[in-house]
Amino acid sequence: MTQFAARDFHPFEAGGNRYLYLVPSAGVVRLDRASDAVLSTVAQEPGSVGELTSRLSDRFAADEVASAVEELLHIQAIGVAAEPRKRMLKVLPSSAVPLQTMVLNVTSKCNLACTYCYEYGEDRVVDEEAAEMPRFLDEETARQSVDFMFEEAGPNPVVNLTFFGGETLLNFPVLKTTLAYARERGDALGKKVQFSLTTNATLLKPEIVQWLIDNEVGVTVSIDGPKEMQDRFRVFHNGKGSYEVVLPKIRDLLQRHTAKPIGARVTLTRQNLDIIGIYRHLSEEVGFQQVGFAPVTTANGRDYAIEDGENGYDLMLQQFQALAWEFLEYTVAGRRHAFSNVTETLEEIHKGVSKAYPCGAGVGLVGVATNGDVGLCHRFAGSDEHRLGSVGEGIDVEKQREFLDRNHLANKTDCHTCWARPLCAGGCYHEAHTRYGSTEHANLHYCEWIRAWTHTCLEVYGELAERAPHVLERIGN
Ligand code: SF4
Ligand code: SF4
Repeated sequence: MTQFAARDFHPFEAGGNRYLYLVPSAGVVRLDRASDAVLSTVAQEPGSVGELTSRLSDRFAADEVASAVEELLHIQAIGVAAEPRKRMLKVLPSSAVPLQTMVLNVTSKCNLACTYCYEYGEDRVVDEEAAEMPRFLDEETARQSVDFMFEEAGPNPVVNLTFFGGETLLNFPVLKTTLAYARERGDALGKKVQFSLTTNATLLKPEIVQWLIDNEVGVTVSIDGPKEMQDRFRVFHNGKGSYEVVLPKIRDLLQRHTAKPIGARVTLTRQNLDIIGIYRHLSEEVGFQQVGFAPVTTANGRDYAIEDGENGYDLMLQQFQALAWEFLEYTVAGRRHAFSNVTETLEEIHKGVSKAYPCGAGVGLVGVATNGDVGLCHRFAGSDEHRLGSVGEGIDVEKQREFLDRNHLANKTDCHTCWARPLCAGGCYHEAHTRYGSTEHANLHYCEWIRAWTHTCLEVYGELAERAPHVLERIGN
């Protein structure tokens, strides 16, 4: 008799029901009572349909058990015990990957001197060559970059152009001409360009805000929270805090630029972990519609690095969880909630995202340095070691292929048995490079955190499915 055994899934509960996150398909299913019982029984000990029927005979008829087995086999929650588990396949794109997003570094200069910044801080990806990098993108390189973007976008009807820095507004003249040129070329080519920029908000002025509005530019503001937090790390070169400077400018931006959600991006450090307090301030007092948090990228041992344990990652997780549950209650009640970390993960779960690579870096997304060098993403722009080409020569397809080959999830043996791999895929290359010296290394220092956070997001997803399924339909739209 064929024996069945449990396979690759992660269970969770929502609304009193049992759900599974199915790792091979990245799908989510709710189990009926019979399937739940069969799976629990098989997880304890493999068994045949006959054995399972007899073990569960006090609760389920034989045909219920048989159809539960069939269903669980179909979704690959169980498999034939004697058959080896399927190995992870390494499937590389068969042709060049069309570009979706170009992150254009318009300057490497910044008027703030944040201690932890990867651009200026101690952990920057530095090459000798980067030291020679022009501090500002010039108009000619910017135009070449736009031409490169359309060329590499191939058949994509929409491309995203994100301006990045340094502080982007230090090079406002080139921002303006670049956007105008991209719009003109997009119109001529019949392609839509979606623009966005990241700024520290110190240089926002009414006329710049108007330009952002007129051109429908999405804005992400790097900000660390209330005054005491912001002024601790986000300081001018003379050491003065930036809170009082940015607050009125941000208020003006939020009040007038209403067509696009304006996001706040908070860098979390060991000294800046009052996530709920920061969230309340930025969302409820300042008025950001999206507030997202990212732990600082750092090598081990920096005094701002978030530590393991109750004062570090555990504290961060508890607060992320509290905000995620608050998001759920707000959403069910039809209220808006700004915690974007949870909405981003819910969107990925809902779309059934299953990644072979942690992000789009080098595959659909590139970072362009001020000298026109093309790197994996904005964080690697200007790093010779991670150069994929240049805006003049285009992407070196061989290099790209070699990168994709080396960095595929199938090579990360530590991740092969991890249920969170469809969403994590080993984590950020920049973080891995900073921590372990290689983009190919899985970010094993935050696995527990990733799994616990993903589990919470799955629970929230299940609760939404139970209590407000119509909301799931809107996710990602
Ligand atoms: S890095 Fe850790 S959490 Fe992420 S997929 Fe690999 S083992 Fe899982
Ligand atoms: S490598 Fe890291 S920083 Fe770069 S795009 Fe990916 S996740 Fe973002």
